[in-house]
Amino acid sequence: MPFCHSCGAEVNEKAVVCVKCGVALSPAGAGGQVGPVSDKEWLVALLLCIFLGGFGIHRFYTGHIGIGVVQLLTLGGCGIWTLIDLIMIITGGLKDAQGRALKKS
Ligand SMILES: [Zn+2]
Repeated sequence: MPFCHSCGAEVNEKAVVCVKCGVALSPAGAGGQVGPVSDKEWLVALLLCIFLGGFGIHRFYTGHIGIGVVQLLTLGGCGIWTLIDLIMIITGGLKDAQGRALKKS
């Protein structure tokens, strides 16, 4: 049973807030990231975007198959779409197909 980092009270391991003091709890094992975290690796998506981004391979990896196909056919929107995706991956704006943040390990 984990403990609240703020007041030290015992909290349920699935709890998102401490019922005693009301502070938000970071999910266990998520490395301090807030919100649901993808099983896809952030670093893998970044490398795929850098080396194979023109073929939309990073989009296939994150589960956006439809966007991946379009990027493959348009060669990453002539590279512009790939560049935008690359910036979004670096800034953490690119989520997986379920809307979860990519895992940083
Ligand atoms: Zn607390």
